[in-house]
Amino acid sequence: MASGKGKSGTGLARQSGRGRSEPELPQAAVSWEYAPAPESRDVVSIAPEYGLFVDGEFRPAASGKTFATVDPASEERLSLVADAAAADVDAAVAAARTAFDRVWRPMPGSERAKYLFRVARLLQERSREFAVLESLDNGKPIRESRDVDIPLAAAHFFYYAGWADKLEHAGFGPAPRPLGVAGQVIPWNFPLLMAAWKLAPALAAGNTCVLKPAETTPLTALLLAEVCQQAGLPPGVVNVLTGDGRTGAALIGHPGVDKIAFTGSTEVGRQIAASAAGTGKKVTLELGGKAANIVFDDAPVEQAVEGIVSGIFFNQGHVCCAGSRLLVQESVADAVVDRLRRRLTMLRLGDPLDKNTDIGAINSRQQLDKITELSAAGEAEGAQRWSPPCRLPDKGYWFAPTLFTGVSQSHRIAREEIFGPVLSVLTFRTPAEAVAKANNTPYGLSAGIWTEKGSRILWMAQRMRAGVVWANTYNRFDPASPFGGYQESGYGREGGRHGLAAYLSA
Ligand code: NDP
Repeated sequence: MASGKGKSGTGLARQSGRGRSEPELPQAAVSWEYAPAPESRDVVSIAPEYGLFVDGEFRPAASGKTFATVDPASEERLSLVADAAAADVDAAVAAARTAFDRVWRPMPGSERAKYLFRVARLLQERSREFAVLESLDNGKPIRESRDVDIPLAAAHFFYYAGWADKLEHAGFGPAPRPLGVAGQVIPWNFPLLMAAWKLAPALAAGNTCVLKPAETTPLTALLLAEVCQQAGLPPGVVNVLTGDGRTGAALIGHPGVDKIAFTGSTEVGRQIAASAAGTGKKVTLELGGKAANIVFDDAPVEQAVEGIVSGIFFNQGHVCCAGSRLLVQESVADAVVDRLRRRLTMLRLGDPLDKNTDIGAINSRQQLDKITELSAAGEAEGAQRWSPPCRLPDKGYWFAPTLFTGVSQSHRIAREEIFGPVLSVLTFRTPAEAVAKANNTPYGLSAGIWTEKGSRILWMAQRMRAGVVWANTYNRFDPASPFGGYQESGYGREGGRHGLAAYLSA
C-alpha cells in the first residue's frame, strides 16, 4: 500500500500479511508514484484560543477553563477552546429561550429562510477554509472534507431554507409549532456535517439551538458560529458550547431544553434516553451501526469492490452506517476477496491535507486504542487478519486498512461497532441466509445490496431491518432523504421532510 507521506510506498504489494502470493499488477501501476499534492493550510487562520458562542458573541467559559484540540495526523496542538460547564449551559439556554420568544418564533418562515440561505451561501464561499480546518482537526482526507462534508453541509442549509415558509403545507397540520430550545450533541466523525444536520431543520422549523460539538473536533462548529455572525443571525438563535461529555450531559439534562437531538454511541444514547424519560422532552437518537454490505454472485464485481471499499474505508471507517460486515455469496467469495486485496494495495494512507490521500488519521488516541483492541480480539478469536504492506507515519494516530476473513457470527468483530478501517468478511449461500445474517445484529441503521436483479433488490430490501438500504451503491447521502435507525441504532429520522417532524408539534 502506498503511503501519502511519500516515504515508503511503491503503490504495490506482492506479499500479503499471510504470506500469500498476490496477483501481479500491470507494469504501469508498478512504476507510477504520485507526487505529493498538499492543500495549502494558509487559507485557514486558527486563533490560539476560542471562546464559547453565546448570545451572538464569543466569550470565555465562566470557569476560565480551556482544553486543547490537536491535529490527529501530527499530534500538534491546533488551539485551546473554552470548557463549558453548568453556568455556561444556563447562559446559553437562557439566550436561546429569549431569542426563541422574542425573535425567531414570531419571525415569518420566509424571513427565517433568508438567514438559512445566507448561511448556506457563506459555507460555499468559505468552503476551502472549512475543508482545510476540518481535515486538520479531524484527520480526514481533504478530498473527503472538500467533496463530501462541506458541500453536503451547505446543501442541508439550502434544502431546509426551502422548507421554512412551507411548513403549513407539509402535512404537519395547519399550524405546526416549533418545540422551543433544542439541545444538540454531535460526534467527531463528521463535525460540520453533523452540525448542519442538527441546526438546519431545527432553525427552519423555528426552534433555537444550543450545539455541543465533540471534544476532539470543535473548530468547524466554532467557524460555523462565526458564519452565523457574518450572516447576521439574531443573537441567541444559535449557541455553541465546547466541552466534553460532562458539558453534553449538562445540556441534555437542562430543564430549559425542550428537544434533545443526539448522534453518537449507543451507550451514551441509552443514558440520554434514561435521563430524558418522563421529562416531556422530545428526543431523537442517531446511534451506532454494524451494517451488512451484501454481494451476490451476479453483482458486477469491480463495481461492488469499489462499493465495499468506500463502504468501510471512507472516513477511516468512522461512519455510523459503514458497511463493516461484508456478506459475500460463497461461490464468488474468493474472487471478490482477491480483488478486494488487490484494490487495498492501491489505497494511499497519509497526510490528510494531501489531495491524493485516501485514508487519513484516526481521530484520537482513544479511538485508535479501541480499534487496536477489537482487531486483536478478532485474531484471538480465530479470524484471519490481512492488511496491505503499509508504512504508517511516525507521528499521529494511524491504522492500516484491515481485512478479516474466516469471521463467524459470534466473533466480536462481527458484532461490535469498531468505527475504524476494519472489514469483517462472512459468506452466505442463499438470499434467505443473507437476510438472516444481515439482520443478526442489535443495530439496524443501514445495509447495501449488490446484484444485477431488480426483483432481488426489492425482495431483500423488504426484509432488511435497516433504516437505509442502498442498492448497487453505498454511502450516498442527500438532504432530501431521511436517515435513521432501528433497534440500538436509535430512533427518529434526520433529513428530508421527516427531519422537520422531529422539531415540530402539531
Ligand atoms: P460518544 O457517544 O461518547 O460521543 C458523542 C457526543 O456525545 C460527543 O459530543 C460527546 O462529548 C458527547 N457525550 C459523551 N458523554 C455524554 C453524556 N453522558 N451526555 C451527553 N453527551 C455526552 O462517542 P465517543 O466519541 O466516545 O465514541 C465512542 C464510540 O461510539 C466509538 O468508538 C463509536 O463506536 C461510537 N460512535 C458512534 C457514532 C455514530 O455516529 N454512530 C459517532 C461517534 C461515536 P465528547 O466527545 O466531547 O466527550
